Amino acid sequence: MTYKNFSLGPNEDGLVTVIWDMPDRSMNVFTEEVLGEIEAMVDAFATDASVKGVVLTSGKAGSFTGGADLKMLRGMFDTFEAKRGENRDAAVAELFERCGEMGRIWRKLETSGKPYVAAINGTCMGGGFELALACHGRVAADSAKMGLPEVKVGIFPGAGGTQRVPRLTDTQSALQMLLKGETLSAAKAKSMKLIDEVVPADQLVEKAKDMLRAGLKPVKAWDEKGFKLPSGPVYSPAGAQVWPAVASLYRKETADNYPGARAIVKCVYEGLLLPIDQALKVEQRYFAEVLQTTEAAMMIRSLFVSMQALNKGARRPAGVPDRTPRRVGILGAGFMGAGIAYVAAKAGLDVVLIDRDQAAADKGKAHSASLMDGLVKKGRAKPAEAEAVLSRINATPDYAALADADLVIEAVFEDRAVKGEVTRKAAEAMKPDAIFASNTSTLPITSLADAFPEATRFIGIHFFSPVDKMMLTEIILGKETGDEALATALDFVRAIKKTPIVVNDTRGFFANRCVLRYMTEAYDMLVEGVPPAMIENAAKFAGMPVGPLALNDETAVDLSHRIMKATMRDEGEDAIDPRHFQLIDAMVTEDGRLGRKAGKGFYDYPEKPAKKHLWAGLKEKFPQQAPDAVDFAELKQRFLVTMALEAARTMEEGVVTDPREADVGSILGFGYAPYTGGTISYIDGMGVKAFVALCEKLEAKHGERFRPTPLLREMAERGESFYSRFGGEALAA
Ligand code: NAD
Repeated sequence: MTYKNFSLGPNEDGLVTVIWDMPDRSMNVFTEEVLGEIEAMVDAFATDASVKGVVLTSGKAGSFTGGADLKMLRGMFDTFEAKRGENRDAAVAELFERCGEMGRIWRKLETSGKPYVAAINGTCMGGGFELALACHGRVAADSAKMGLPEVKVGIFPGAGGTQRVPRLTDTQSALQMLLKGETLSAAKAKSMKLIDEVVPADQLVEKAKDMLRAGLKPVKAWDEKGFKLPSGPVYSPAGAQVWPAVASLYRKETADNYPGARAIVKCVYEGLLLPIDQALKVEQRYFAEVLQTTEAAMMIRSLFVSMQALNKGARRPAGVPDRTPRRVGILGAGFMGAGIAYVAAKAGLDVVLIDRDQAAADKGKAHSASLMDGLVKKGRAKPAEAEAVLSRINATPDYAALADADLVIEAVFEDRAVKGEVTRKAAEAMKPDAIFASNTSTLPITSLADAFPEATRFIGIHFFSPVDKMMLTEIILGKETGDEALATALDFVRAIKKTPIVVNDTRGFFANRCVLRYMTEAYDMLVEGVPPAMIENAAKFAGMPVGPLALNDETAVDLSHRIMKATMRDEGEDAIDPRHFQLIDAMVTEDGRLGRKAGKGFYDYPEKPAKKHLWAGLKEKFPQQAPDAVDFAELKQRFLVTMALEAARTMEEGVVTDPREADVGSILGFGYAPYTGGTISYIDGMGVKAFVALCEKLEAKHGERFRPTPLLREMAERGESFYSRFGGEALAA
């Protein structure tokens, strides 16, 4: 029998090696066709007396599978949405059946009577790892990585993962791994007993065959009489030690915002009380339930489908040939320039790193040396790789070194005159078709382009700090920016493996405008006398990774002070709430509380190992409300609404033109509560009408900053969503 996605090695003494290698795909994924072929193979082997055992591996170098094609899940959503209007019960029943397909086939393999060994040659995620867990043995290459990351896109492992993991490893480790969606090294997976053997990649298949030759049983421990759970029964003294702590672990990880995570806890708890087949049914039920939640739909759309589309260049102008730069020049080797040099060199690009003198340029290069050193110490890079990265960075004060650069990125002081000067100097040295980009955070790109001979070759590439950790870049189009410049910027961002959003040129662009709202809402709460700890906790319970006051300390309180003063200078005194200015002005000029870098800001930063804590003096600045008098749920809403409203304004003004970019940009740029799917999906998820009503309620109580915009009112009246009006959904398909 032949298969499209699998090839079968010769039958060697009853052992067959199945190699999964999908044509026309760089990575193996599960599609309906792949599932059909696996089932056909399992059926064929089960009745073939000449087959004594099967090794499952992949033909893709360094990767077993990336997991399910989430587009398959989107297909399930769409069918469900289309059918549920007619007959909801029938639609739910169909969804339930389809949810169980993968799990049913894995169980069939597990109970087929033939022993299977998964030979995991590389990355093995999601449904692929669940397939491996259903096999009777698992061997992994020492470089392989594996895990069940589903919770990160709003769902959970629904093909046996929640049942087989806690039957192989202790309950606490199982829950930790499932709730965090952790990626495990082969060694860690072995220590958790999820993998039987770890070997060098070239010995993988042989080792798997050895296991079969040694008489691996085609029956799992949990299908045999007398099976004992690794942590003992749920209702036992051991269980009584584990389960009470689970609630706090779950709350800590999720703030109860993620239906997928909640379902994991329920599946493990209820499943461990039952035999495996019933337990798998429990998992299937919860999976079908979670798939119907808004959170799952929004997260899959933003964090998988849209992110992938943006990474693949959804906004790249068609028809411009590949412009991935080979050599990148960076002007300014400070905090940002040094970070950009590192990510570019790490991606294999040659870098010219320029500063005012050799010592300053060298200091910037030293940043890469220290980051690579850290990786080598942790065993995550080889010394030779560190050397190669550093050898690609030419640190110099000499602009002539820019002659071969395809792209030059400016990251000098945020000062128009300094930027103008370095732009002119670089332009003289650059080749005629090279592109110039500015990393400015506040200055309009269109006006900065005046210092460059051709505005069509000038663009903004706005990084976030720390550059090596933050996955987002904002590409800013000046009025005259041309397609070549945009294509170059996007090809560069793709090369350094970050996600781009493309925005039009306005003050604050997209992300910083929203973040500013987050921080100013916290100023309002402080002024109202909300206890600072409640402000920080409300933000975290709303799903934000960092409280607004802690974030303000990271970005520096004196920077907020400077931005406020510049805004008042440019847009008039009324542009800033005087109570906010008084607060920040006093923090900076009277109290010297400049943020984390000064060791004091909204928080105090005592010497380690002591932890930072909120500054006690903050409470004395404003008469404090009694905690019971504060509407905590409303604090959470205020944070999410104020940022979502700002995102809606950016779309109304045409700064952001595609809702996918506002969504992905808000999650990657400032950690906007991921379970919502992002700022715009937060609005669409509840419906524009409900959002407008919520804004009006908040406006009545807290003022006109919550007033719904004309566009929102119009959309509410017409029953539109952002995705239906602006077309992100259609583009994402
Ligand atoms: P920084 O002060 O750490 O670095 C600026 C560097 O530019 C310094 O090393 C300085 O020596 C160098 N420089 C100044 N004048 C120069 C000249 N004439 N020729 C060559 N080099 C010169 O500042 P930073 O935080 O890295 O910010 C740089 C730019 O990035 C600014 O435009 C800033 O707005 C923007 N930005 C900063 C952040 C952030 O979080 N810090 C985030 C995004 C964008």
